Amino acid sequence: MPELPEVETVKRGLASIVEGRLFTYVETRRGDLRVPFPEDFENRLRGRRVCKLWRRAKYILADLEGGDTLVIHLGMSGRITVYPKPEAAIGKHDHVIFDTDAPARIVFTDHRRFGLMTIIETANVESHRLFCGLGVEPLSRQFDVAYLKRVLKGKKTPIKSALLDQRVIAGLGNIYVCEALWRARISPKRQAAKVKSESIALLAPAIKQVLREAVQAGGSTLRDHRQTNGELGYFQKAFAVYDREGESCLRQGCKGTIKRIIQSGRSSFYCPKCQR
Ligand code: ZN
Repeated sequence: MPELPEVETVKRGLASIVEGRLFTYVETRRGDLRVPFPEDFENRLRGRRVCKLWRRAKYILADLEGGDTLVIHLGMSGRITVYPKPEAAIGKHDHVIFDTDAPARIVFTDHRRFGLMTIIETANVESHRLFCGLGVEPLSRQFDVAYLKRVLKGKKTPIKSALLDQRVIAGLGNIYVCEALWRARISPKRQAAKVKSESIALLAPAIKQVLREAVQAGGSTLRDHRQTNGELGYFQKAFAVYDREGESCLRQGCKGTIKRIIQSGRSSFYCPKCQR
């Protein structure tokens, strides 16, 4: 599943192609993804100019001239591919086509169809049900040690679950929570309220750091997540704990072995020796 860094990478790649451009042609090749496309989806986009592309949590948003915003979620397996020519061939799992006057053809492919596309009035984005309950962006200035201390206070859930709560931190996913907890030497099982102040002081910057490194490296993924330039994801990020069950801990001097446990239906990877 694409996580925040992948979505950010796709957003950046797309921004360089579509910002300032017109959608000359839009086609949905079926009636729905996870939910039906809004009525008149194609007509509302055709001929519209894209002013700005941005990201909120794991949503990509395109503000259009005239006050509408196109919202895209990649779901579990959604990919966006950019072809230099609008004549590019279309495959079986290519569900949405956007041609621009760049010229370029942008194709949304999603074989599992957990993705989502909708249009919201730009003025109503923040109050829309998709966005109104979301917490702060982990890469924003509002997310810092003080914020994390405040939101973890009194929380009886394990720290892992607290960090995955989208009402607290928007867009942070399983892989990067595991990585950040390892860097801060905190066990994913520790009760959120009992994480020491010194550890939270390490955790907040660790979260930013793991995300920034992944964004910088162009996004990472375990699947065949494509870069927006049409190439297969060229980058496979090396993780310190994620998906390393049974392997040696990479922390210098630690002789621990990475363990996998299930928490709220998700795999947690951690080193029981150096993460407490
Ligand atoms: Zn260790």
